[in-house]
Amino acid sequence: MPRLHVHCKTLFTGLEDLVRHDQALTIEDGLFTYVGPRDGVPQPLPGEQVIDTGEYFVMPGLVDVHTHLVFGNAKSEEDIDLHVSPEFRALRGLFFTQHVLAAGYTSVVVPGDAGQCSIAVRNAINGGLFSGPRIAASSNVIANRQSLNDWFPSWVGTPDYFTGRLCATREEQVGEIRRQAKDGVDVIKIAMDGTHLRPNGEHIAAFTQDETHGMVEEIHRLGKKAAVHAYGREAVLYAAKAGVDVIFHGFFMDDACIEAMLESGSHLAPTFTMLANNVEFAEDYEPSTRCGYAAMQRRVIDVGCRNLRRAREAGVPFMTGSDSGFAITPYGEWHARELEILVDWLGFTPAQALRAATSVSARMMPATQPVGALEVGRRADFILVDGSPLANVSILQERERIRGVYLGGRRVDAQVPGYDPFKVSDFNTLKWSELHTRQRAIEMGKRPARQLV
Ligand SMILES: [Zn+2]
Repeated sequence: MPRLHVHCKTLFTGLEDLVRHDQALTIEDGLFTYVGPRDGVPQPLPGEQVIDTGEYFVMPGLVDVHTHLVFGNAKSEEDIDLHVSPEFRALRGLFFTQHVLAAGYTSVVVPGDAGQCSIAVRNAINGGLFSGPRIAASSNVIANRQSLNDWFPSWVGTPDYFTGRLCATREEQVGEIRRQAKDGVDVIKIAMDGTHLRPNGEHIAAFTQDETHGMVEEIHRLGKKAAVHAYGREAVLYAAKAGVDVIFHGFFMDDACIEAMLESGSHLAPTFTMLANNVEFAEDYEPSTRCGYAAMQRRVIDVGCRNLRRAREAGVPFMTGSDSGFAITPYGEWHARELEILVDWLGFTPAQALRAATSVSARMMPATQPVGALEVGRRADFILVDGSPLANVSILQERERIRGVYLGGRRVDAQVPGYDPFKVSDFNTLKWSELHTRQRAIEMGKRPARQLV
């Protein structure tokens, strides 16, 4: 591929808070070879392509560290695990990579799925069979009894095709980590939160400190990244002390957790988007589901905001994730809401939020995929935005403003045809959402009230 020249009126490198003006990029073999002022750039040779990005805001491709590529916009755990074969999940995941890409996200971290689904999608893209975002792939989430991802009763267990893998002993934990490393994962996720509570209401972690240490040590020994799901204080503390790379959520953390994170260098990815959408969109359905989920999420947001502000002020590095892949967070729709939340709820400046969503989140990508910044030596993934996200970070959620997506210096035009959600997910057999008593029939106006007398 001949050298490519890109002229940029406004450029954000992803590494600093200021924008630069009248800049140029050169790209060779998919990597940036020059990033700097227009007047210092080597002149284009005959035959080399020059792109003028005009008034567009040029910035690194966005990174989402929490996208469940193969969950298929699931409405329930059963939707993820029971009704859909791993083979179909992988094909469907490949389809949805296009929606992710069209939203300006050129890299995603997949924190947990089943078998080799996201590994297969990643390999198909890396092998050049399809174009799609760069993927940090994972496999089953390492779960313990009563932790997240051990969501089916013990008489069902956790068959291979489930998202969680029950690892109740140290041997099983280490064995599963080695199995996943052999299969080629980039990231291994541990479900640290347990559902048991202390009398004071605190969540008891699903693994002990020793177990957590043992797992993270083995993950790192095998050259993989460690991610954990942890709301609870104890879960966050164990994970931070063990030196995990990223803690998802962290809402109930305290000062000891913050101190441990600063010491180990662990990152925090709040992934508030999922909660924000639950509260905003699902509340009307609460009376019919009666599970109290949205109300619980609202309380978690209140506490989480207070604690995470302290973490930010103390200097804990933040990444951005959306939990895309559920019916409340469909692919390609809400990834960039997380940036708006960092600004509105946690006091980030737009530039800090942009850095979190680019160069900082890119630390979760494999070392062979240096992305997340416009910098010499990194992969030339960048996007053109109509408008300045530094003036209003929420414009990144408007897909029509993403005017160009480049992967390794190559412009990609993602194919995003519409789809019938009932044919790609929601295979559950639910037929009735409430109880149709005679009283209810009267309330619905289907029967006259006197019939009950
Ligand atoms: Zn998740």
